[in-house]
Amino acid sequence: MLRTCDVLVAGAGLPGLAAAVALARSGLSVVLADRSPVAVPPIDPETWDARVYAISPGSAAFLSAIGAWQALPEDRMTAVEAMAIEGDRGADLGFDAYDLGERALAWIVEERELRAALVPQVHSTGVEVVAPAAFASLDWTPGGGTLTLEDGRRISARLVVGADGLSSWVRAAAGMASEPVPYAQTAVVANFACERPHRGVARQWFRPDGGVLAWLPLPGNRISIVWSAPSAQADDLARLSHEALASRVSEAGSHALGRLDVVTPPARFPLRFLRLPSVIAHRLALVGDAAHGVHPLAGQGVNLGFGDAQALAAVLGARGPVADPGAPILVERYARQRAVPVLAMQGVTDGLARLFASTLPGVPLLRNLGLSAVSKLPPVRHALARPALR
Ligand SMILES: Cc1cc2nc3c(=O)[nH]c(=O)nc-3n(C[C@H](O)[C@H](O)[C@H](O)COP(=O)(O)OP(=O)(O)OC[C@H]3O[C@@H](n4cnc5c(N)ncnc54)[C@H](O)[C@@H]3O)c2cc1C
Repeated sequence: MLRTCDVLVAGAGLPGLAAAVALARSGLSVVLADRSPVAVPPIDPETWDARVYAISPGSAAFLSAIGAWQALPEDRMTAVEAMAIEGDRGADLGFDAYDLGERALAWIVEERELRAALVPQVHSTGVEVVAPAAFASLDWTPGGGTLTLEDGRRISARLVVGADGLSSWVRAAAGMASEPVPYAQTAVVANFACERPHRGVARQWFRPDGGVLAWLPLPGNRISIVWSAPSAQADDLARLSHEALASRVSEAGSHALGRLDVVTPPARFPLRFLRLPSVIAHRLALVGDAAHGVHPLAGQGVNLGFGDAQALAAVLGARGPVADPGAPILVERYARQRAVPVLAMQGVTDGLARLFASTLPGVPLLRNLGLSAVSKLPPVRHALARPALR
């Protein structure tokens, strides 16, 4: 059985879902395939998803344009009004939404809520979903790519969009050899109830051991944490009792919000970096983590993925007389549009992760001096914040 379409989006994580919707909205026939079912997740309002994202104002505007942002329940989102960052020797740096002329620096939203907002858009825009479906092989002709599934079904597209994550099968099947590089850190995520109100402030501590602890505000007196720690330490943290973990997290954050109590038990994510020489190949465009892996310290991975989806849909939507959505001129235009924003974000996040992990003599002092200097220079502070907002 052969199904033909303009674009096959292979991978239905958040960037893949958004890409499928945005491409369908620009008038293309789209098939979305994933090994897991593509469905609205069951949501128990008494519980909180351990996976939460800081969604930038730029991503929020894109999600709004494709009909998903307005579907998010207001009582499950928190505006980040300010951010307080502390270096490992006491230096600090702050960002304020008001100061930057923004309603919020970001919105904290649970993954399952984002999926629940995007999946109905997939169906209402006429995207054909092929899931659950295990990928078996990918073959290329001058005019497109054909994905064969393990059950023998085939999907042929003028353009294949690889949206299948950091260890992308599509990327490997296209002969792109690059592999993600481990950071030797693992992120521990968990949610907590806090004694004192967070007042919409996100907090982040760079730690002397090279780790980074972030507290993100959730609705009510709750926070979500991302503790990127040396992997052995992360394993220890995840093994602690809930009481001991809450006490360690509170102590690591100088008890800024008083007593903490675990709301959602910890989950672990090994951290890896990926930089590709190119995010495109013949009849192929990569989006999301398949195209780039960044350290979560700036909360930008999924935002970069949404940026990819938006750029690809804009390029294909404005293709004018070029009827073929997989034409090299369009795919190259997409790669050019994404090169600078992705490089800049990777440079900042990877640079900071490595700078704060360094134990070379003098470096700890210098990095803290740098943080203080940025804090005293509003134009530099603004220049640093702008790319993260958009
Ligand atoms: C701890 C942590 C915190 C983070 N916090 C933030 C944040 O606050 N803000 C932010 O912007 N980003 C954040 N990120 C980054 C964000 O999680 C990722 O960038 C994003 O989830 C990547 O989405 P993706 O769809 O590209 O990949 P994935 O989420 O990995 O999705 C890939 C999809 O492809 C499918 N797939 C994979 N392989 C196959 C195959 N062989 N066959 C069929 N289907 C396949 C999978 O089933 C899945 O649906 C964080 C990351 C971590 C680890």
